[in-house]
Amino acid sequence: MTTKLIMSAVVCCSLLMGCSPNGKTEQTAVVTASETVSTEIQVGKDYHSFSNPDEVKVTNLVLDLTVDFEQNMLSGSVQLDYKKVLPSADKLVLDTRDLTITNVSANGKTIPFVLASQDSFLGAALTIDLPQVGDSIVVQYHTSPQASGVQWLTPAQTAGKQHPFLFTQSQAIHARSFIPLQDSPQVRVTYQATIRTPEALLAVMSAANDPNTPRDGVYEFSMPQPIPSYLIALAVGDLHFKAMGERTGVYSEASILDAAAAEFADTESMLIATEKTFGPYSWDRYDLLILPPSFPFGGMENPRLSFITPTVIAGDKSLVSLIAHELAHSWSGNTVTNATWRDLWLNEGFTTYLTYRIMEMVYGEKRYAMEAVLGRQELQADIDNLAKNDQVLAIDLRGRDPDDVFSNIPYEKGALFLRELEQKVGRAEFDKFLLAYFKHFNFQSITTDEFVAYLQDTLVKEHSDVLSMGRINEWIHSPGVPENAPVPQSDAFTVVDQARADWLAGTIEAKDIKVKEWATHQWLYFLNNMPEKLSQKQLAELDDAFDLTQSHNNEIAHSWLLISVNNWYEPAFTRLHEYLVTIGRNKLVKPLYKALSHTAEGKKMAQKAFAEAKDGYHPLTVKANEGFVE
Ligand SMILES: [Zn+2]
Repeated sequence: MTTKLIMSAVVCCSLLMGCSPNGKTEQTAVVTASETVSTEIQVGKDYHSFSNPDEVKVTNLVLDLTVDFEQNMLSGSVQLDYKKVLPSADKLVLDTRDLTITNVSANGKTIPFVLASQDSFLGAALTIDLPQVGDSIVVQYHTSPQASGVQWLTPAQTAGKQHPFLFTQSQAIHARSFIPLQDSPQVRVTYQATIRTPEALLAVMSAANDPNTPRDGVYEFSMPQPIPSYLIALAVGDLHFKAMGERTGVYSEASILDAAAAEFADTESMLIATEKTFGPYSWDRYDLLILPPSFPFGGMENPRLSFITPTVIAGDKSLVSLIAHELAHSWSGNTVTNATWRDLWLNEGFTTYLTYRIMEMVYGEKRYAMEAVLGRQELQADIDNLAKNDQVLAIDLRGRDPDDVFSNIPYEKGALFLRELEQKVGRAEFDKFLLAYFKHFNFQSITTDEFVAYLQDTLVKEHSDVLSMGRINEWIHSPGVPENAPVPQSDAFTVVDQARADWLAGTIEAKDIKVKEWATHQWLYFLNNMPEKLSQKQLAELDDAFDLTQSHNNEIAHSWLLISVNNWYEPAFTRLHEYLVTIGRNKLVKPLYKALSHTAEGKKMAQKAFAEAKDGYHPLTVKANEGFVE
C-alpha cells in the first residue's frame, strides 16, 4: 500500500527491545508509568487474527455475493475449502467484523457455530464445529453498512454523478468485515467469485478480469494463485476500460479514463523493466483501477488490479512513482508476503526500494535521486515525531490496531537499509540476491526472522568482509537510522537550495527565480524546506509569482496549503476548504487537519470542512482525522 500515514497513536510506554538474531523469541520489557512487565513476542504468531491455521487451514474460497446499493450491503455466501493440519482438529475459527451470520452448513446440512462478542479492533471470532467427514463448509452471511473494509459512495460522490460506487480495502485487517475468513497474511487462498450487481454497473476484482466481459450484472472471477486475505478486493461502478499496452490497461469512470491512460502510459515499460531485473511477472495481466477521490490511500497493490487514487493524475506524469510502487508489490508483498503485520517492512521496505529502482530504469538517475532525497526527508519527519519503539522495522504491534504501523518507517527506513546493502556489496551482486530471494520465497508468507536467516546464509556469507549481522540487527531492531547510513543526494536540488536561500535573504525576488525547468519534485523540495515562519508579504509574493494557491498538482498544493495554515495565510483558505472536502486521501488531508487543530480558529475551519466532507471520506480517513476536530 502507499499510504505513509503518520501515526497518531499516543504511546504511553517505552519499550526496550533486545535483539535476537537467531532465536525464535525475543525478550522485551514493556515499561509503563507504574509497572514493569516482561513479555515475549512469539515470532510468526499473528496477534491480529483469531483464526487457527496451525490446526485447520483454509485453502480456497468460493464467493457468491449480491451487491445491494439500497441497503449498502453485500449478502450471499462463501464456501471455504480447508485442509486439516492437525488430523484431530474439529473446529475452524474464522475472523469476522460486523457480519451477520445466518447459517453455516457442510455437506448440505446445517452445522453448529458460535459467534463471539466483538473486540474493539479485531472483530469477532466465528467458531465452527467441523463435521467428521468433508473438507468444505458454506457460510451464509451479510455485511453491515458500516463494514470497515467497504466504502459505499452515492452517485453524487462519483465523477459521473449517475451511479453509485463501491470499493473494498482489505489491508490490514478489514477483509473480515466483508468475508468471514482466516484473516491473516500467513494464510494464502485461491478464490472464485460470482458478483451480482445492478445491470448498468461493472464489477472488477483482484483476480482475472476480462476487459471485454458483457455488462449484464453477473460477473465471474477466478484468482488461481494463492494470495493472503488482505489482497482480496472488489469494486463496482460505472467502470470502463482502456488498454495501455499488451498486458496493461486502466479501469475508471468514463470522464477520467483518457486522462488516466495518458498519465499512466508508462506502466507497460515499468513492467518490462522490472521483469528484466527482478524476474518474471507472476500475475498475467497488470491493470489499474482509478477510484473516486475518497480512496484513503495512494494505491493498494491488489494483485492483477492495483487500486489507485485519482489525486496523482497531474497531467505530467510527475507523481507516477505511485504506479511503480504498486507494480513493485507484484514481487515484494504479493508473491513474498509479510507473515504478520510486525513484518510489514518486508512488504513496504522492499517495495519502496524497488520503486526507486524502477523510476531510475524508466525515467533516469536524476528522477531517482530527487525522489530518494524527498523520501529521506519524509522519513526524518517521522523519526522526529514517533516514539522510539515505533521507529524499529520489526515493530511490536501487540494490542494495537495494525493500521497504526503505516508510518514511513517500514517504507523509507526499510528501503534505506536495502540501499545500504546494495552499496556495500555492489548493485550487480545485490540484484542477484534479490532475484534469488524472490524466487526462494515465491508465494510464501515469511517473518523478519526468516528473512534475516536467509540473508545471513546468502549475502552475508558471501560478503562477510563488508556485511555484519550486528549492523543488520541494528537496522531492524534499533530506533532511528544507524550512523553512517546512506545519504541520498540530488544535484537538481542544489539550485533549488540556492534559489530559496537567495530569496529568503532578499537578494532576489520570487518572480526572478528561474523555475521554468523545475520538476514537481523541485517544487516540493523548494516548499517543504522553507523556514517554519514566513511573513504575509513573503507568502503573497510567492503566491503572486507562482500561483501556488491554484496549483493543479495535488502534492504541490498540499505543501503550499500546509505552509498557508502554519502561517495563517488567508488568501489560500478557500482553496484549502475545497481541497479538504474533495480529497479523501489521508496522506494529503491529515497533515492539514493536524496543523489546523493547533489553533482555535484553525480548529473551527477544520470542523467545518470535516463536517462537510465526512460522509464522503472513507472510514479509515474519518478515523485518522476525527481526533483533530473534537
Ligand atoms: Zn506499498
